[in-house]
Amino acid sequence: MRRDWDAVVVGLGALGSAACYWLSRRTGLRVLGLEQFEIGHANGASEDVSRIIRLSYHRRDYVRLARRARDTWAEVERESGTQVVFRTGGLDVGPREPTAGVGIDIGDYARAMAAEGVPYEALDAAEIMRRWPAWRLDDRHHGLFQADAGIADPSRGNATHRGLAAAQGAMLRGRAPVTGLASEGGEVAVSLATGERLTAGHVIVAADAWTNDVLAPLDVRLPLTVTQEQVSWFRPRVDPALFATQRFPVWIWMDEPSFYGFPAHGHPGPKIGQDVGGREVTPATRTFLRDEAAHARVAAFLCEHLPGMAVEPFLTKTCLYTLTPDRDFVVDAVPGHPGVHVVLGSAHAYKFASVLGRIMAEIVVDGGTPSALELEAFRIDRPILREASPSRTFIV
Ligand SMILES: Cc1cc2nc3c(=O)[nH]c(=O)nc-3n(C[C@H](O)[C@H](O)[C@H](O)COP(=O)(O)OP(=O)(O)OC[C@H]3O[C@@H](n4cnc5c(N)ncnc54)[C@H](O)[C@@H]3O)c2cc1C
Repeated sequence: MRRDWDAVVVGLGALGSAACYWLSRRTGLRVLGLEQFEIGHANGASEDVSRIIRLSYHRRDYVRLARRARDTWAEVERESGTQVVFRTGGLDVGPREPTAGVGIDIGDYARAMAAEGVPYEALDAAEIMRRWPAWRLDDRHHGLFQADAGIADPSRGNATHRGLAAAQGAMLRGRAPVTGLASEGGEVAVSLATGERLTAGHVIVAADAWTNDVLAPLDVRLPLTVTQEQVSWFRPRVDPALFATQRFPVWIWMDEPSFYGFPAHGHPGPKIGQDVGGREVTPATRTFLRDEAAHARVAAFLCEHLPGMAVEPFLTKTCLYTLTPDRDFVVDAVPGHPGVHVVLGSAHAYKFASVLGRIMAEIVVDGGTPSALELEAFRIDRPILREASPSRTFIV
């Protein structure tokens, strides 16, 4: 019997939409994307106006993958004529002595970039404040500036991937929850809540916070942690021009708690969030309400280091993080189910969305990818993912 589809993608968030696009570019491939909610919904991890894109990472494999990610977004921008990435430069800043045992060593980032030939500048507090007067720092602080970093805009990136995929003949269906997966004689049977049953050569599970629900029929469960995160936008009480994209880089505070922020983009003011600052939830128990304790942590940080932003936010959004215990991605086929592939971004993958979609298409169609070396750390059967309750290191 001729299978219904060559590839079915479960989940049309950032990663699934990208996978549909890169698969649909392959001539003659029949691609179906299935989303349980309406396409573009705000229940997951990918609907917003800004995400940090950077080459500065704590390991060389991520630096190399980030470089391919940047080039892949540029290809999508050329293909679509839509700008998705806005270059602002990126500042990794924080204490010279990070909080023992939990803080982030900026040196790891400098070493990884140096080893991969990525140019950056090491800056002391005085130089950071000279360049970006909104910051309040002292001699205990330092930073790295990398000029290629910036903002990847999901509201543009997701729509672009979906638009290009549809233009290439992919079918994208919203309100189509997948309820079952089964490997059958070299194919994968996909069951939907509608009662439909489809067959596909390959299924890509890009379901983030719902990954374990989708994999349950295959008896696979990953030790994932889902948290409800929030980001807020502020109208600064100082010259707003200090926070314009041309004058204020995206930034990450390299300590625990770790904060990150953006110049004004998509909304009339700069944005800030705490990395892994939210409480543990499930997709069913999460709310859309502001977490006051998390907000208080952000407010205290702003008072100390970005006082011009220390005002009440005009907008706060919540969304979901889905974290592996080592914060590394999962990009791999399910053992025993060669037709079922999982792509999970462990809450730092928007910058990689297009390249991870591309890599899924390479694996499905070509049987391999030029990024194979970079995927070694992302195996689904790595030891920490097979532990019932592994130790968790989310701040990297
Ligand atoms: C507050 C916040 C800040 C972030 N900041 C950054 C950043 O600065 N830089 C960066 O690179 N990354 C960042 N990230 C991470 C990044 O946004 C995510 O890694 C990425 O968006 C994940 O995309 P996804 O497609 O895997 O997930 P999602 O967008 O959640 O998509 C999963 C989709 O699968 C669908 N689905 C689930 N189950 C089913 C089913 N049974 N049938 C059909 N569909 C199903 C869901 O409805 C959903 O649409 C941030 C994330 C958050 C929440």
